Amino acid sequence: MFDLFFGLVSHDLGIDLGTANTLVYVRGKGIMIREPSAVARQKKTKQIVAIGTEAKRMIGKTPQTIEAFRPLKDGVIADFDAAAAMLSYYIQLVHRQPKNKFLPNIPRPKVVIGIPSGVTDVERRAVQEAAIMAGAREAYLIEEPMVAAIGAGLPIQESSGSFICDIGGGTSEIAVLNLGGIVVNRSIRIAGDEMDEAISAFLRLKYSFLIGEQTAEEIKKTIGSAYPTHNQAERHTVVRGRDIETGLPKSVRVSESEVREALTPVIDSIIEGISETIEETPPELVGDIMERGIVLAGGGSLIRGIDRKIADMIKMPVWVTDDPQTAVVRGCGKLLDDSVLLGKVKVAARKI
Ligand code: ADP
Ligand code: MG
Repeated sequence: MFDLFFGLVSHDLGIDLGTANTLVYVRGKGIMIREPSAVARQKKTKQIVAIGTEAKRMIGKTPQTIEAFRPLKDGVIADFDAAAAMLSYYIQLVHRQPKNKFLPNIPRPKVVIGIPSGVTDVERRAVQEAAIMAGAREAYLIEEPMVAAIGAGLPIQESSGSFICDIGGGTSEIAVLNLGGIVVNRSIRIAGDEMDEAISAFLRLKYSFLIGEQTAEEIKKTIGSAYPTHNQAERHTVVRGRDIETGLPKSVRVSESEVREALTPVIDSIIEGISETIEETPPELVGDIMERGIVLAGGGSLIRGIDRKIADMIKMPVWVTDDPQTAVVRGCGKLLDDSVLLGKVKVAARKI
């Protein structure tokens, strides 16, 4: 009865707690929040100043009294308090809907959270605790590659291998799934952030040119490339930064092939992770994967030509799932409607 009551006045949520972006899916409504995983707070008092887009904008340009950062770095929770604050903020935010004005405003939803597979037991408990503290009455944790595969519509329950590679900001999650479980799993700390760093390092070496983290990310998003395309004109972008020698501002025109050169070692490392995972895969499942191919998800899979490059090197079909950056949160959303599957794939559950 209690559950029924709360079930009526609250929203069940699917949350992708990513290293770069946090997405929230509200059951019956769709994706309601899509914000960077970033927090800004007062250094001394730890008081939160901003969360999400506003906090990300502050990274690298805060006054001395404020720190702006990403609470999940490299696929682990680097700052638990900040991660918890962010999680609660988003849970509260989706409940601040005018529609609920005449109903008691007690957000007590069921929450399904996708977390990087490298998160430790202690951190898992901490994330669940944060969800409960924020008003969830049931908190389920699912490993990212599993929910990504569910979101991408792979037949993970069947007896047939599925291969997913989710390239996020801090980690690339590579996994083989079969019969509703993870057969082989690899979480490597090489993903979008390393691509940004590689672009910065390349420009520093080639042009003695210094750029910020966010500028590097912008270059990657606008002209990032993994594989040469002969039938398309090469793209360029003009970047503003600072000359290392003179210390003065300068602009550099960067080409797509330069960015591709910068990104090559990073993408090669991801491909190495994929081939190592294939080596560990039971031979029976390799056949299925050869047939069905490797599915890419996550923001990193939006790099132009990354599917072709992987296919070229691994000699298997590769494709990018539709709307790859929302695969995890959509997978969480599907699990809200399928409690049998949820029971099967969850790594941890906490109810109050
Ligand atoms: P996470 O799950 O770790 O939060 P996401 O799946 O949201 O990460 O992906 C974020 C990463 O994807 C970031 O490194 C971002 O720069 C990168 N990204 C987003 N859009 C693009 C794009 N169009 N091209 C290349 N990289 C992109
Ligand atoms: Mg992700």
